[in-house]
Amino acid sequence: MRHIAIVGSGPAGYYTAEAAQKMWSDDVRVDVFDALPVPFGLIRTGVAPDHQSIKGVSRRYEKVATSDNVRFVGNVTIGSDVTIAELQELYDAVVLATGAPNDRTLAIAGADLDNVFGSAEFVGWYNGHPKFAALDPDLSCKTAVVVGAGNVALDVARILAKTEEEFAGSDIVGHALDALRDSAIERIVILSRRGPHDIQMTPKELGELGSLQDAMPIVEQGDLPPVETDETLDPGSRKSVQLLRDYSQNAPDEVSPKRVRIEFDFFASPAGFSGDGKVSGVTVERTRVEDGRAVGTGETYEIPAGLVVSCIGYRTSPIPGVPFDERAGRFANVEGSIQPGLYCVGWARRGPSGTIGTNRPDGYAIVERIAADIEGGSGKMGREGFDALAEQRELDIVTFRDWQRIEEAEIAAARVGAPREKFVDVASMIAAGGAAQD
Ligand code: NAP
Repeated sequence: MRHIAIVGSGPAGYYTAEAAQKMWSDDVRVDVFDALPVPFGLIRTGVAPDHQSIKGVSRRYEKVATSDNVRFVGNVTIGSDVTIAELQELYDAVVLATGAPNDRTLAIAGADLDNVFGSAEFVGWYNGHPKFAALDPDLSCKTAVVVGAGNVALDVARILAKTEEEFAGSDIVGHALDALRDSAIERIVILSRRGPHDIQMTPKELGELGSLQDAMPIVEQGDLPPVETDETLDPGSRKSVQLLRDYSQNAPDEVSPKRVRIEFDFFASPAGFSGDGKVSGVTVERTRVEDGRAVGTGETYEIPAGLVVSCIGYRTSPIPGVPFDERAGRFANVEGSIQPGLYCVGWARRGPSGTIGTNRPDGYAIVERIAADIEGGSGKMGREGFDALAEQRELDIVTFRDWQRIEEAEIAAARVGAPREKFVDVASMIAAGGAAQD
């Protein structure tokens, strides 16, 4: 018997559990830990609430989670409730699949002003992550600035631009829907420090901006490189750039029948935020691209703005005792190996890149590596030993069955047409799961 502990129940965690099942069948026991009482990580709190089809992948994880040799151990924080060293005593392999839940910060003046947020905070707010549910962003301003040219910037801009009707069928949480309904934002500026050929936005996501009910994307024609240079791009990027070309046909100066303008500002990097307690403006520096890098030109201009969301990437949370690569913002590892018996996978291994599906080969690869490292079982105690420790520490563990009760309660509380209304605090989740009754 092999005993595997997976820390984190998001895509990387469950693909690893699935791969372990495939590799060892009945000869493995897998415990999937999560600090929250609810599983699926980024699927629940990262993927945009209006992208329900992407969230459908959780049904695949559910199949793994409900099989005999895999169990979910929720509401346990590895690193504080239980240490990594303790897990390593109990399990043949410990795999860190903790993702990258913290914002990379913009180290510029005014970044600590009110209403300047990182995307982990802002996305967590509209997705009901307990840590960010009380963020309470002020949406009473006319202009919002979104920093970054990736898919998260697109998610944030789209969520800010949608009408209430467009959230039908989504699982956006009630507090966010209420705030967005009252939003006064009518101009969203997306700052991209490089040019149209350097965006990280995928065509499907970028294309959604073109069909919003009451918002219009605007690109300045002068920012676009000659059309023939698009041939150097890979097919996906070429499609994205074609969309920017299409959006450049939306005349910015004409009175638009649409309420919200989503303006792409290329070759533009934030240099500072100003405001008295709360942000009221962004100083932007013009850039040019040299050897693929954005370089400041010294030319600056101001955008009056009352909300800033910085979508410039994420960092993994360090765990005491685990080597960490500070510069890269993830665990120090060689192809997923950290130390004997300790591994990492997904964003915790490679940083915040790729789609949900990218984590599948990652999970399978790490299990191959573990299989090569632990040829047979080592006689460790596995879940039996963990349960004794949890009892001794009086940990209030949430099981997958508890989660199913939480989910049933969320489905029962849904607005008409919505799949669920999420609990946004840990105490309510635990109460709905009835962990104490089991
Ligand atoms: P990302 O794709 O890496 O984009 C980050 C953006 O921030 C880049 O445009 C980058 O510019 C910019 N940036 C970084 N540091 C900056 C700085 N100091 N100042 C100004 N701009 C800066 O990251 P993401 O948008 O957070 O997405 C993370 C991953 O999740 C990606 O793989 C993404 O595709 C995925 N995702 C997918 C979906 C979907 O498929 N629907 C949705 C959301 C996220 P440079 O390129 O110049 O560095």
